[in-house]
Amino acid sequence: MFYRCLVEHTEEMMPIVYTPTVGKACQLYGTIYRKPRGLFLSINDRGHLYEMICNWPEIDVKAIVATDGERILGLGDLGAYGMGIPVGKLSLYTALGGIPPEQLLPVMLDVGTNNEALLNDPLYIGLRQKRATGQVYDDFIDEFMEAVRRRYGQDTLIQFEDFGNHNAFRFLEKYRDKFCMFNDDIQGTASVAAAGVFASLKITGKKLRDNVFLFQGAGEANLGIATLLSLAMQEEGATKEEADSKMWLVDSKGLLVKDRPKGGITGHKAVFAKEHAPVETLEEAVKTIKPTAIIGAAAVPHAFTEGIIRDMAAFNERPIIFALSNPTSMSECSAEEAYNFSEARCVFASGSPFDPVVYNGKTLYPGQGNNAYIFPGVALAAITCGIRHISEKVFLTAAQTLAGLVTEENLSNGRVYPPLQTIRECSIQIATSIAEEVYRDKQASYYPEPEDKMEFIRDYVYSTDYECFVPETWQWKKPEEK
Ligand code: NAP
Ligand code: MN
Repeated sequence: MFYRCLVEHTEEMMPIVYTPTVGKACQLYGTIYRKPRGLFLSINDRGHLYEMICNWPEIDVKAIVATDGERILGLGDLGAYGMGIPVGKLSLYTALGGIPPEQLLPVMLDVGTNNEALLNDPLYIGLRQKRATGQVYDDFIDEFMEAVRRRYGQDTLIQFEDFGNHNAFRFLEKYRDKFCMFNDDIQGTASVAAAGVFASLKITGKKLRDNVFLFQGAGEANLGIATLLSLAMQEEGATKEEADSKMWLVDSKGLLVKDRPKGGITGHKAVFAKEHAPVETLEEAVKTIKPTAIIGAAAVPHAFTEGIIRDMAAFNERPIIFALSNPTSMSECSAEEAYNFSEARCVFASGSPFDPVVYNGKTLYPGQGNNAYIFPGVALAAITCGIRHISEKVFLTAAQTLAGLVTEENLSNGRVYPPLQTIRECSIQIATSIAEEVYRDKQASYYPEPEDKMEFIRDYVYSTDYECFVPETWQWKKPEEK
């Protein structure tokens, strides 16, 4: 009944099990806590994680969403209170991806929290210590991965969720070729944002290569998006250098430029650092670079000022403005601001939902660049096909498929995503495209290869109909009829 309700009232229910309400639920987790949902593994259980996982009553777990609670949405370190996120995400695995709930396991990897308020909160449900770091922490995560493999098999999908930036990229590199895993904050976000961009191109009439992107924030979300958009441009025929040169990023120290006086350009950011004079603010960066699209994911509320939106509208007939920070309170601008300051010419999408906006008598529907368009379909493909390792191409395929599902009518209403009510069907389409691809690329381990991939996937999908409990019966034929 719970899942039926989610399925039939997706648009109304999603903001509750997912952003923005899930954020509030996590902040108040200790107060509203009734009974554990999911598995809490503490760093003090090191050496016994396998036994602990064996305590989970289900024998056929196919997918896990795990977090250590260090960066919950844009709300920061919520420690063990972050469990609301894996629980919520997995509800959507069933509601939107059709994966049976008993095959899903939410996991909290509790290594402590650096959130003083929680350490002093009498109702805090997690370990009362500062976050474990370094070798001990890494060994703990390693042991968890091995324990999952031992208990539920190599093909168990493990989604990393809301880890701190420094760990998210590291673990993705470390595990992606060893396990069936992905990081939704990096890869899922990248895919849904890229889908929004692909659909926007049908409105702006531009080729992807002809765009210049300016990102506010150079973290998990935006580095993921920039990398995937660059990959998509390369598929269009651009060289890697050309594609990367179209991606400009601003972090807390300003525009990513080589030899920046303030420094801080390490790891994945370095790829996108440009030969350019230092620029300190986003305003200035917009004026200097004159991008066709600005994408915000820095959890800095109101970062897209009136001036910035007006500038974008002055430089472009149809500027692309994506305000992706979650929850709503962190959004770079509201839908209303984006439409009003651009005379409704912008193509707008946000991370958290905004109500439709009426401008000059026309109703505009802001797109919700919600990862829930992507991860359920990816998971559905991963589980049904037994994908060995999830490549970047999988997320590009997901993005292209999703963009392909946006109709002319959707576009004319300003939508760059299909309506939320159709999201379950989107997941099936995405999973089917991915299935075709992984069998072609020999990344699928399920044998024999299903001939009709969509039918195969539809057959697997969880039904919320009550089944008849009376077993099927039949009559034996009489001897003379044989
Ligand atoms: P993250 O890895 O912690 O990255 C945050 C980035 O923002 C960092 O690069 C940081 O700069 C930068 N930043 C901080 N203050 C800034 C400022 N004043 N000006 C410019 N940049 C600043 O976090 P994330 O995973 O990317 O997530 C960021 C936000 O995106 C969150 O609100 C999250 O909810 C949202 N998000 C939305 C979606 C979606 O809508 N589909 C998906 C995922 C995430 P430094 O590198 O210098 O520290
Ligand atoms: Mn997340």
